[in-house]
Amino acid sequence: MIKFLWGNFSKFVALITSMSEETRSRNFIEHIIDEDLENGMSNDVLRFRFPPEPNGYLHVGHASSICLNFGLGLTYNAPVNLRFDDTNPTKEEQEYVDAIKLDVQWLGFEWDNECYASDYFQQLYDWAVALIKDGKAYVDSQSSEEMAAQKGTPTEPGTHSPHRDRSVEENLSLFEKMKNGEFEEGAHVLRAKIDMASPNMLMRDPVMYRILHRHHHRTGNDWCIYPMYDWTHGESDYIEQVSHSLCTLEFKPHRELYNWFLDNVYTNEDLRPKQREFARRNLSHTVVSKRKLLRLVEEGVVTGWDDPRMPTISALRRRGYTPASIRNFADTIGIAKRENLVDVSLLEYCVREDLNKLAPRVMAVLNPVKLVITNYPEGEEEWLTAENNPEDENAGSRQVPFSRELYIEREDFKEEANRKFFRLTLNKEVRLKNAYIIKGESVVKDADGNITEIHCTYDPKSRSGSGTEESMRKVKGTLHWVSINHAVPVEVRQYDRLFMDEAPDSHKDKDFMEFVNPDSLKVINAFAEPSLKEVEVGDRFQFQRIGYFCVDTESTPEKIVFNKTVGLRDTWAKVQEKK
Ligand code: ATP
Ligand code: MG
Repeated sequence: MIKFLWGNFSKFVALITSMSEETRSRNFIEHIIDEDLENGMSNDVLRFRFPPEPNGYLHVGHASSICLNFGLGLTYNAPVNLRFDDTNPTKEEQEYVDAIKLDVQWLGFEWDNECYASDYFQQLYDWAVALIKDGKAYVDSQSSEEMAAQKGTPTEPGTHSPHRDRSVEENLSLFEKMKNGEFEEGAHVLRAKIDMASPNMLMRDPVMYRILHRHHHRTGNDWCIYPMYDWTHGESDYIEQVSHSLCTLEFKPHRELYNWFLDNVYTNEDLRPKQREFARRNLSHTVVSKRKLLRLVEEGVVTGWDDPRMPTISALRRRGYTPASIRNFADTIGIAKRENLVDVSLLEYCVREDLNKLAPRVMAVLNPVKLVITNYPEGEEEWLTAENNPEDENAGSRQVPFSRELYIEREDFKEEANRKFFRLTLNKEVRLKNAYIIKGESVVKDADGNITEIHCTYDPKSRSGSGTEESMRKVKGTLHWVSINHAVPVEVRQYDRLFMDEAPDSHKDKDFMEFVNPDSLKVINAFAEPSLKEVEVGDRFQFQRIGYFCVDTESTPEKIVFNKTVGLRDTWAKVQEKK
């Protein structure tokens, strides 16, 4: 039954991931756009944006938003802006801007304009002045605690600030002085004058500007006041003439404010953007919040934003994920109206599917034990032909060296085994991949009883592909191996989940850091076939019978380092089973 379900599920995933843009069923955002088009909106005015705040590296949740916005651009043949929402100079940096650009490009998308909210600071300021003149904004000079105390609760109205009725002249003069840097941080804020009794707490005279004597990564020291998100975002959409401003669900209550601000700047002559919301994507066994990811970096839990255990796009790239696998993942989970937790094994499924088609097969032994073929001539070697990728007929073949002394995986041998063990045991035969059939004969052990050598004999007529009767002989198991004399030592970094809990940041009384898996990294000294001597950073391979591996950014010709991208076995099926 489970297998049946799984079979259908994988077909479903395969179906979705192979569907082209035109045939995939429309998501609810596309329905909204289609309806707008039916109601007379011209396709020419469609415009979208992806609006990251450059306060960290993008993560897999952002990938959903990128695929959604840029995907809409492709579907409707409409421009998509990359807009940096850079209104908080205390947390934002050029490093993040550069990383974000790289990630979006790497995912395979092209933006129309590269925009910065900071480019609109003057326009926003001018509009704020107009709002003051209109009696719709005022300078408040209370502490943030006092203002918070006056906010009320969702069921009780707030109380007016004693500064709410300042004259337009006084407000203008104070606001200008705020801008000119004449006040300390925290001395004043500019607030919109809306409704302190609104059932929507966000409408209770929200702050539009605060004083910050900080250096901004683009505007330098030009500004001593910085606009808040709500004031900036919708107006930036308006300036760029974005038709559909898509954001995550937590902004739904902000929509009223988004519209209120727009009402005050909109001129009826141009396009009025509309905000629509979709559910944030959460991935199991990790956190997708830049703030939390920054803590992992700052507290040294990981080595950086691109540590291959991180859920950032840069980490996934370093670990060996392909852009297509991340796009397929985003497409498969689609977009939703309600939040849910997506199991990370689905992401792994997507990369496994992609790498199965792309990655050349090679042999590497991660946990070696020495195998001696006692009837193979000493000092002799031969080069055997090995197929590069059975999934790709153009992938060709390569030569791998064979000799008397090999490494095989320690787990591939048992002195005594039951009938279900299809690997090597004494007196049983297995095939060495691309090579000969061997038979286990005896073992050599050290003083503690650990096996140090396995001795076997081989059938010289059984070479794979030689066409002899013996070469066709079927044996139950096939093992991978490397010739000891020819082997290339490589470092292999194997990763486990970064968090032991499925949803580490969902516990009210516990900090997510308590769930960090202390054993998420295992470094192994392994041996690979000599064709891996000349690899380049980013090269991806299938280590046969083990999994997919990618050459790490720290790899050098002297010390080759591989990251394990994902194992061969599908764990998504198991997840389905549990449910
Ligand atoms: P974080 O909490 O990680 O900082 P954010 O929403 O504050 O996330 P932004 O840089 O403001 O980060 O996000 C840029 C865009 O990506 C926004 O439109 C946001 O809604 C979207 N986004 C962020 N996280 C997710 C997620 N987990 N799933 C889907 N979209 C997301
Ligand atoms: Mg944010």
